[in-house]
Amino acid sequence: MEKTALITGASRGIGRAAALRLAREGWKVCINYIERKDKAEEVCSILKKEGTEAMCIQADVADKAQVEAMANAVREKLGPISLLVSNAGIAGQMQIQDVKEESWDRYFDVNVKGAYNAIQAVLPDMLHAHAGSIVTVSSMWGLRGASCESVYSATKAALIGLTRSLALELAPTGIRVNCVAPGVINTDMVQVLGQETLGKLAEMTPLGRLGTPEDVAAAISFFAGTEAGFITGQVLTADGGFIV
Ligand code: NAP
Repeated sequence: MEKTALITGASRGIGRAAALRLAREGWKVCINYIERKDKAEEVCSILKKEGTEAMCIQADVADKAQVEAMANAVREKLGPISLLVSNAGIAGQMQIQDVKEESWDRYFDVNVKGAYNAIQAVLPDMLHAHAGSIVTVSSMWGLRGASCESVYSATKAALIGLTRSLALELAPTGIRVNCVAPGVINTDMVQVLGQETLGKLAEMTPLGRLGTPEDVAAAISFFAGTEAGFITGQVLTADGGFIV
């Protein structure tokens, strides 16, 4: 099967770093985004300059029809999809009594239904090939509790349940499903916390620094590659030791 990757939320942060790394490892790459066309096109043009077959496409992962159309466009342009990195996600902090129903729904629609939509959209290619790899991006807060992040944490725990169950369901078909659970990674997502809090979080991290998107991309690349050929259903925490 040819190496064609669909990475959701790849215009910025962890998804962007994964796109750059996977491209350098020989993958054709589709960069998905929702709003930042400028950022997605920037990644795409870097990849094309490096000789990678790449495309970028706008789709809200929460919208099943948009995700299906995206997968079809990838197939048409880059060929059957053999790697899905389900990375797009949203985060925020709030006390549970302040969580509006629309927010609850949106978190689950993007973070959990987004993965379901993307997995269903790429599966026909992988089932046909009896091969393929799916990497979900959860969080260390999917494994531990996080005060004022109960909704986010619940979505990320759901992704881990999805990953483990799907790994068992798809194992007989040769498709592997694994999960990366990042710690505090220095991307746009965490800037809302402010420099002082980020500094404290770096101090609380045993390795003494915030993670970089490249740190997480390395874990994604491991699961994607043939060296992880006997590994499925696993959660790899890339958090500098935060939740050890
Ligand atoms: P980020 O810098 O905020 O980037 C988010 C990416 O997701 C962007 O490419 C964004 O596209 C895209 N996106 C958001 N909503 C989308 C939607 N509905 N449909 C399609 N794309 C969408 O985030 P990040 O820090 O790289 O996080 C990536 C993943 O890692 C997320 O799942 C996050 O929960 C997880 N994670 C992050 C951290 C951390 O500390 N940063 C820790 C643990 C887990 P646009 O550019 O178009 O907006």
